[in-house]
Parts: sequence; structure tokens; C-alpha cells
Amino acid sequence: MSLIEDLVASYRILAEHGVIDGYGHVSVRSERDPKRYYLSRSLAPELVTENDILEFDLDSNPVTAGNQPLYLERFIHGEIYKSRPEVNAVVHNHSPSVIPFGVTSVPLKPIFHMAAFIGVGIPTFEIRKTQKGSDMLIRTPRLGAALARSLGPKPAALMRGHGSVVVGEDLQRAVGRSMYLETSARLQMQAMLIAGPRGKITWFDAAEVKASVPRQDYARAWDLWRKKALERIKAER
Ligand SMILES: [Zn+2]
Repeated sequence: MSLIEDLVASYRILAEHGVIDGYGHVSVRSERDPKRYYLSRSLAPELVTENDILEFDLDSNPVTAGNQPLYLERFIHGEIYKSRPEVNAVVHNHSPSVIPFGVTSVPLKPIFHMAAFIGVGIPTFEIRKTQKGSDMLIRTPRLGAALARSLGPKPAALMRGHGSVVVGEDLQRAVGRSMYLETSARLQMQAMLIAGPRGKITWFDAAEVKASVPRQDYARAWDLWRKKALERIKAER
């Protein structure tokens, strides 16, 4: 079991469950040096293997020179690691059910125990406040730092018209939160549809959020997802 193996499994898990598709990426902070992190070279997540993982410094420059194409949006990862010392894993995704909540005034709310962390508050990053007329991509350290400021101390931030960023103390939490953020957004839309404009929806209250979040480490699901992902990778060889 190694960190790099877990990182490769994370790409496969998120792709398998439709949280990332041909795009999106996940990184993990180095255990050896907190000023370094690991991220794949630019590649569709379902194709990522251990050979594709590169080491970056927190300015998102690759540590070893090479001419592999890099993810344009790697600054998301470096700038979040700079501002959040306790965060060791970052997922950037275009998870589809989450997008409507980034473009409307309807906030994501805690509705489902697997995604109780939503109750901590999920901010929305508005790229126009930093750069007008952008192509929405976090192409520069400046945009990465602005996104990290929007995220603040929270577990996730929506990126208007683009996707979201989800963080955790480890890969299993960042991956688990990304999976259940997508599910919870879908459940909230369904509940709002059933309830209609006058119906009542019972959200988690603050005490329920407080009781649920620290316990939720997604360990059982992570073990299953990881095992299946590593079996698939083995079968490809
Ligand atoms: Zn993106």
C-alpha cells in the first residue's frame, strides 16, 4: 500500500462513478515533504497509472524537468496546499449535479448523512471577481490563490459555471466527499421537486451536522472502491 497507489486508485474511483470524466484531477500532499504534492501529468483520469504521477512544488512547478503536458489547472492544488496546512488531498471535478447550485441563488444544504459536511457551508467561487472574460479555467497562480481564498476553511467550494473543488485530511475523505457531494446535490434537487414551492424539506440542523462530520471518514466505502479500482488496474496489465 503506497500513497501513489492510493492516488492512482482515486483517479479510477472518481472516473468510474462519473464524478470526473475525461477531465478533472486529484492530488495528494507528499508524506516526505509538506511543500510538495503529487498529481498526474495531463491525462484522462481513467488512463492514469503510477508512471504518470509527477511531483510538484507548491508553486505547481514539476520538480523534475520533462516535456510532459501538465494540467492547466494544477494551480488549484498548489495554492490550496499553501493556504490549508491540514489538507492533504484535493479533488477538482466537473461533477454535473453540483453545477446548478453554483449558478443559482439556491444553496446546497445538508440533506443526507453521507454528505453532512455540506452543513459546514459550501462557498461559491466567482472567477469574475478576479478576472473578467476568462475561459473559467484556473490557469494562473493568481486565480488559484483567489479560489483558495473563496474556499477558506471549508471542505468544498463550488466554481460557478465550471465545477467544484473538494478537500480532505486524506485521499479517502476528499474522494468520499466528492462522491457524496454529487449524490447529495441530486437528492436535494429531487427533494425540491417533490416538495414544490410550498412543500417543506427537513434539513440537518447544526447539532446533527456537528455530530456527523467528524465521524465520517468513508473508510468502509474507500476500502471497497480502492480494492475494485486496483483489481481493474491489475487486469489491464
Ligand atoms: Zn476544471
